[in-house]
Amino acid sequence: MISSHFKPYHIPLFLAKYAWLTARRRPLLVHFEVTMRCNAKCGFCDYWKTPSSERDNELKSFADAAKAFSPMMITFTGGEPLLRKDLEDLVRGVREASRLTYVTLITHGGMLTLPRAQSLWDAGIDQFNISLDYLDGRHDTARGIPGLTNKIMTTVAAMRAAGIDGIRFNTVIKNDNLEQLVPIVERAAELGIGVNFSLYTDFKNGNKAYVIQDGPVDATEKAVKSLMAFKRKHRGVITNSDYYLSTIPQYLRGELKGLCDSGTKTIHISPGGMVKRCPDFPLDTHWKDYKGYAPVDCNACYYACRGEAQAPLQASRVFDVLALGRRAPATATVD
Ligand code: SF4
Ligand code: SF4
Repeated sequence: MISSHFKPYHIPLFLAKYAWLTARRRPLLVHFEVTMRCNAKCGFCDYWKTPSSERDNELKSFADAAKAFSPMMITFTGGEPLLRKDLEDLVRGVREASRLTYVTLITHGGMLTLPRAQSLWDAGIDQFNISLDYLDGRHDTARGIPGLTNKIMTTVAAMRAAGIDGIRFNTVIKNDNLEQLVPIVERAAELGIGVNFSLYTDFKNGNKAYVIQDGPVDATEKAVKSLMAFKRKHRGVITNSDYYLSTIPQYLRGELKGLCDSGTKTIHISPGGMVKRCPDFPLDTHWKDYKGYAPVDCNACYYACRGEAQAPLQASRVFDVLALGRRAPATATVD
């Protein structure tokens, strides 16, 4: 489902913008990393070790960059963006600078309350992406936030009841949550929200504990097939393309070769305004000097943003877009 901030007639406008940006080789998706600070304690990411003094180096506005790129989608991410008390001001500034742009927020959800969600929704967030890798206590342990899973479920239900309809779970596929993937999708369907999957990589801080390559590739293929089967019956809940999901086992078996095209369709802009080609590469130039990236010989991840960027336009993707245009009920049923 797409946010009710937009109407069905916006879809052809977005498609026209997609064609225009693609023809000019400009990014479709720009991530604003508004802070690298974080109050979680994930074992697979070191952002939470960022000193609080880094606050002084964070831009007070991303509006100029939003206006210059005017992409299809802008994502506020981090670190944990909700640590910024001025996040609503940042969102409003970006919203006004780039109007035909879908604005999303990635959060661990630990500080998300209904009043904060409402004020961000009113400021212009079209979609809340809340990290959720397990439905049980393992999620709280992995993120280092006691009670996190229950809090997410309560807050999401309250947001849906308040009419906030742009919500997704961001779920990382790891070697120890394969049996959780379909239940997470079913819970999302019950809540009337979506799920976006991405494959784990150890490229962030070298933590190999959750890597699948050396482990259950067959089990992953089976889990992915279950997701595809769910998707065929209930389009509009799982938001990944069929292409991305179906190529995950190929990547894990080392069968996906070729250069990585990161930094062309999607870019990341740091809290201080510097561009990098993907979340885990070093900073390069100031966003004002961005001239695009050449493909790079790197195969360190198969994040959704990498896989989706190379997905061909298949008929199934058209069905996805049409399904996303339909408003999902607050209590979609799963049979
Ligand atoms: S993965 Fe997300 S929630 Fe965890 S430390 Fe990194 S930024 Fe924070
Ligand atoms: S494969 Fe691409 S997106 Fe992934 S870490 Fe390497 S350069 Fe970045």
